[in-house]
Amino acid sequence: MVFESLSEKLQNALGKLKGKGKLSEKDVDLAMREVRLALLEADVNFKVVKDFIKTVKERAIGSEVMESLTPGQQVIKIVNEELTNLMGKSEAKLNFSSTPPTVILMCGLQGAGKTTTTGKLAFNLKKQNKRPLLVACDIYRPAAIKQLEVVGEKVGAPVFTMGDKINPVDIAKAALEHGKKHGNDVIIIDTAGRLHIDEELMIEIKNIHEAVKPNEVLLVLDAMTGQDAVNVADSFNQRLGITGVILTKLDGDARGGAALSIRAVTEKPIKFAAMGEKFDQLEPFHPDRMASRILG
Ligand code: GDP
Repeated sequence: MVFESLSEKLQNALGKLKGKGKLSEKDVDLAMREVRLALLEADVNFKVVKDFIKTVKERAIGSEVMESLTPGQQVIKIVNEELTNLMGKSEAKLNFSSTPPTVILMCGLQGAGKTTTTGKLAFNLKKQNKRPLLVACDIYRPAAIKQLEVVGEKVGAPVFTMGDKINPVDIAKAALEHGKKHGNDVIIIDTAGRLHIDEELMIEIKNIHEAVKPNEVLLVLDAMTGQDAVNVADSFNQRLGITGVILTKLDGDARGGAALSIRAVTEKPIKFAAMGEKFDQLEPFHPDRMASRILG
């Protein structure tokens, strides 16, 4: 499970402080050295770790903490708060348009879990009594349209496709009209994946973006790819301006480096986390709960 090893190491490092009555600056320094190592081993971005340790240290060696009756507990509380801040403070909800339909543009590299997540998101929205329409804009991978149709059927959401001979921009525009006519209040557009960031496909997503003016641009990232995922997020964000991230495969990511770095690097929130292949395994991302999970 995610954060397994980080959790153990942090609890170990901070546990040593808990037992002490008074803390010296040296005690805090030693503990922070262990925390720093644990974060780096969890594959958290180097700069993010540096800033994190600096903030925690500054707060921890303040007189309020050092002179309190339970300084060790206070330091743990600070680490908890700063871990929460790192991941975005509070849950970042989806932005729904005040004039439906809400348009969600899904993007990401091939294999990150974009199509599966599109289905999960539709499943999630249906539970909130929304009427999502899934749109097949990946015309390059032969099986992609079929895959989305299968996903749509499984979650009980209609899928709009025009085959693979029409330009994805025109498909997206037609889907919007179709959705409006049929009372779909959320349109989720599944775009073509790519193995690496590729200029041509990036321009295509930009063109779709311009044509449909999405309320959300959600980047689907595979948490198991760690700092690569963070770099991909940075790159998509700079070129496209994402509104949030969906982190997938957290069930297979024992380290958790992407979850802890993305917000700080991109300044964009993680909106959902996927923890398995099933359609009900997509959950809103709660930074506070994640921090508490890490600290046990
Ligand atoms: P796409 O190329 O980005 O559209 O990726 P797919 O949706 O086809 O997913 C690629 C693979 O990742 C599939 O085998 C999915 O079942 C799997 N997958 C997606 N999300 C998760 C997840 O949260 N956990 C696990 N374990 N597997 C996932």
